[in-house]
Amino acid sequence: MSLSQRRWLGVPLERMEAWQLAFATMPLAEDLMAPCPVCGLTSLHRYYDAPLSPHESQQHIEAARPGGLWEWCSRCLAYEHSTALAPAAWRSRLPVDHSQLTAEPEALENARRSAEAAGMRSRGRSGS
Ligand SMILES: [Zn+2]
Repeated sequence: MSLSQRRWLGVPLERMEAWQLAFATMPLAEDLMAPCPVCGLTSLHRYYDAPLSPHESQQHIEAARPGGLWEWCSRCLAYEHSTALAPAAWRSRLPVDHSQLTAEPEALENARRSAEAAGMRSRGRSGS
């Protein structure tokens, strides 16, 4: 239950090229080291939601598979949602509640923050 939903906004058209470039340079990164083309802060994230085929497991994924893709900035709440091919090498430890997924990355940001709070993702610097 979230009483106050975040106010997500689509990536402005004039920033779209830089946005796509930032994500394209790090195709497997869940958390990007590149600054956000919209607000300039380093807080870009991506997530693929792509079901495994029956003979695949998290440990053994053979090929790219179609699914949903979210790209978002936790600071300025710019986001993009599309369908895409999840790379075979894509992995995520994010504890996502799949029933809560919508076009907006609200559920993903919630999962990211709770994982961060639980100390599951200790890499990188925390705080500001
Ligand atoms: Zn931003």
